[in-house]
This record gives sequence, C-alpha cells and structure tokens, in this order.
Amino acid sequence: MSILVVGSVAFDTIATPSGRVNDILGGAATYFALAASYFTEVRMVAVVGEDFTSEHEAVLKDRGVDTRGIERTQGKTFRWGGQYLDNMNEAKTDFTELNVFEKFQPRIPKEYSDTHFLFLANIHPTLQSAVRLEMNGVRLTGGDTMNFWIQRTPKELAETLKLVNVLLINDTETKMLADDKNLPRAARKVIAMGPSALVVKHGAPALPIEEVKDPTGAGDSFAGGFMGYIASQGEINREVLKRALFYGGVMGSFAVERFGTERLQNLSRGEIDARFQLFRELTHLE
Ligand code: AMP
Repeated sequence: MSILVVGSVAFDTIATPSGRVNDILGGAATYFALAASYFTEVRMVAVVGEDFTSEHEAVLKDRGVDTRGIERTQGKTFRWGGQYLDNMNEAKTDFTELNVFEKFQPRIPKEYSDTHFLFLANIHPTLQSAVRLEMNGVRLTGGDTMNFWIQRTPKELAETLKLVNVLLINDTETKMLADDKNLPRAARKVIAMGPSALVVKHGAPALPIEEVKDPTGAGDSFAGGFMGYIASQGEINREVLKRALFYGGVMGSFAVERFGTERLQNLSRGEIDARFQLFRELTHLE
C-alpha cells in the first residue's frame, strides 16, 4: 500500500572522520523515500529551489518514487551542514538554511488523496500538522522531529504530536522533549503527549557495521524501512511491527556505509533480506 512522506529535501555539507562533502543531495524526506521504496509505492510532498536539477530528481525517480508532490519554487533549496568529528552517534549542526522552506505551504496533489500511510519526516511542525489534517483518511501516521524544532517551536510541535500514531526519535530527542534525563520516564512522558507508540533510536546502528562513513540519514532510513515494511503488509499486528523494527535497522545500517544517499540508490531486495536474516540470527527473532 502507498505511503506519503512530507519533509525536507536538502543539500547537505557533511564532515566525518572518513571525509568531507559539500552540497550533496540529502534531506529527511529523501532518505525516507529511498529506503521505503524497496518495500512499497512512495509519494513525496516537499519543496525545492532552482538549484534542484533533473539529475537530483532522477535519484528519486529511478527508485520509482512519485515526485509529483515536490514543488519547485524561486530561491535556494534547504541546506544543512553538520559534522560527526567528535561523535559518530550524533550530528553537531554547523548551519541550517531554511531557504525555500520559509514560505512553503504544502500542497497535496489530488492523486495522493487515496494514500494509506503517512510519514511526517523532520520539518517545521506546523507543516507536518497541515499535511496530517489534510490526509485524514490514512491508516497510520508516523512522525519524526529534532532538537532544532523541540527548542524553537515547542507549542507547534505539541499540536503535531497529537496527530501522530508512531513517533520515531532518538534518545537525546526523547529526553529533550520530555525535559527528563531518565529515558524510561521521558519515554512515558512523550507517549502522554499524543503518540500511541514511540520508537527510540540509539545512535549506533543496531547491527555491527564494519564501515560507517557517514551517519547522516540513518534515522530517516530507519523510518523508511520501518514504515515501508508496515505499508507492504496487509495488517498491522505485533509481529509485523517487530519485523518492521528490524527492517528499519537494516536500512539504517546500509545508509551509513557511504556518504549521502549513495548506498540507498542501488540496493537489491536480496541484499536487504540477507541482512535482515543476519540481524534475525544475531538477535534470535523467531
Ligand atoms: P538524520 O536521519 O537525523 O541523520 O537526518 C539527516 C537529514 O536531516 C539531513 O539530510 C538534513 O538535510 C536534514 N535536516 C537537518 N536539519 C533539519 C531541519 N531543521 N529540518 C528539516 N530537515 C533537517
């Protein structure tokens, strides 16, 4: 079944112990869409500027992602700069340039109105809420956010959290959102803010990976594998959710092996399932 993601499409400037790259294609919605595309039909709502070329779009289209909801407008695409030089598990943001996101009003194409699943990737919470309210027929809504929005737009974020079924954030974000340093207690407080389920991601990949080049997008790729797998199944039950967590871990682990979206662009379902199997053996999932 189809899934719609709304979130950032970005040009990222990243430094890690393995190297440095400037203005490469990224953004939360991009990573999510690529990861989910291995499981189900993916649609996107986002905004880009004049610097977003047909080659950038081809990265998504080549994976079968429906890009009709990506609006092109005057100005520059969203830009983010971050580094993982001291800590590979958490990005230190160098800069955030909202650019075309400053005036963005999400418009959902008519053709998207029958979408079954929705993911509100990292973006201004007011935009997340606007899309969720328009897509009132969806079966399940997942969501993400980050310290940037938790600190700057707490009221707007509180409204978004009431509209999300499954929230996927990391442990630092969970503690910050709840204003509580104890993780289990913080998790309980976050659940009380609205979502019926909370997935807390720890920094390091759940699967031991030999080569971690660039952690950017790991969280969004996790979310793409998680939601994409759920959308590919007929029903949502405990077993499906457990497997979805594993597929999330698998997609996150692939994403970090190369800079940017490179590794997510040409995987095969065979490689994904082989790693799922490995993961399963390591953790004895029946
Ligand atoms: P993550 O999966 O958490 O590593 O997400 C990384 C992606 O989030 C990068 O590709 C960034 O372009 C994007 N990003 C960073 N800051 C923001 C922000 N404030 N709003 C939306 N997207 C962001």
